[in-house]
Amino acid sequence: MTFAVSTSRLFRLGNACALTCRECGARFDLGGQHACTECFGPLEVSYDLPPITRQAIEAGPRNIWRYASLLPVPPDIAATRTTEPGRTPLVRADNLARALGMRLLWVKDERANPTHSFKDRVVAVALAAAIELGYRVLACPSTGNLANAVAAAAARAGITSAVLVPADLELGKVLGSAVYDGLLVPVEGSYDDVNRLASELAEERHDWAFVNVNVRPYYAEGSKTIGYEIAEDLGWRLPGQIVVPVASGAQLVKIDKAFGELAALGLVPPAQVRVFGAQASGCAPVAAAFAGGHDVVAPVKPDTIAKSLAIGNPADGPYVLDVVRRTGGAVADAPDDEIVAGIRLLAATEGIFGETAAGVTLAVLRRLLAAGQLDPDAETVIINSGDGLKTLDAVAGTVKLPAAIRPNMTEFERLVCAV
Ligand SMILES: *Cc1c(COP(=O)(O)O)cnc(C)c1O
Ligand SMILES: [Zn+2]
Repeated sequence: MTFAVSTSRLFRLGNACALTCRECGARFDLGGQHACTECFGPLEVSYDLPPITRQAIEAGPRNIWRYASLLPVPPDIAATRTTEPGRTPLVRADNLARALGMRLLWVKDERANPTHSFKDRVVAVALAAAIELGYRVLACPSTGNLANAVAAAAARAGITSAVLVPADLELGKVLGSAVYDGLLVPVEGSYDDVNRLASELAEERHDWAFVNVNVRPYYAEGSKTIGYEIAEDLGWRLPGQIVVPVASGAQLVKIDKAFGELAALGLVPPAQVRVFGAQASGCAPVAAAFAGGHDVVAPVKPDTIAKSLAIGNPADGPYVLDVVRRTGGAVADAPDDEIVAGIRLLAATEGIFGETAAGVTLAVLRRLLAAGQLDPDAETVIINSGDGLKTLDAVAGTVKLPAAIRPNMTEFERLVCAV
């Protein structure tokens, strides 16, 4: 196990009190540890929460730090040089609902974060925890969006960043990391190869916080803020159903955890939210396990345009299965042509240009509706986790671009005669 500094020091991470093994329940002091020394299971942050009121949250900053009391971050977080993600719009999607035959549909639009994906949330929490734990470098293996968020957050905090990405990544995501002037390492191979290299590095470089490897328990907690915001924006209540894109699966698992915490704290009326996971057919290890009724997730080799979701060996896969089975949801997948159609449908009906992960979510929403697994009459939230401007290649061949006209009325009339 990697400890940044001696565990005898008491870390100030708000109401977080321990790391608990998700498999055997063993408890450990807060520190730079991510796996259980008893059973190698993954660790999760546990809290000792005081009573928390809606008023106290509503009086907080207009970003994820309004929920700082529910996160593993230092108490003076608002004063540290973190990014300020969150408070993204929950858009009522009436046009899309009509097109799909649904009664009430919302899109949680994560484009509004500092680097245009939900990854800014998890990175901000990881950064705050990593600094408190004594790390010096912020690092990650990434399918793209995480690299963007790490490079930006480290630049703002004035610390060094190092991001490892598959060499075949979309140009928008490569430039979206390189522009921040940290260390960018393209690696030949799949994300799973990049991830393996990062895990080896984390054993050697004791002052590097790989946000999704050795400080993963802290990082993952950041996704809870999506769930908190949805509940707050609905007037402190929970939706009936939610559809979440799945790569590692952490986002889905933590949104469910957030809903449970809010109900336990008495901040929302208790309600069962049915949680659904969405994968691309070209990388659907969790959907396959769900369909097969298995508890273990067999790794796959990804081949899909949805590169942000192309994790063939998802760390949280078994916990995604637990959540969807417990809540009456499902995990399903859709092929690349339907993913593109999903991107186009969200854009054409709601003016929201999401990335390929959004196309996956839309395509799977349609499939779940067609299969009768998702209730068209229940209030539903879907996550648009990233920005279409980063994955232009996915739609480039599918949008008809008209030829330029000369600047005269005749040519204009000829062009628009069909309109
Ligand atoms: C990383 C990512 C996801 C998946 O998140 P996990 O927590 O790994 O399941 C979904 N959408 C986008 C845009 C991402 O970048
Ligand atoms: Zn354990």
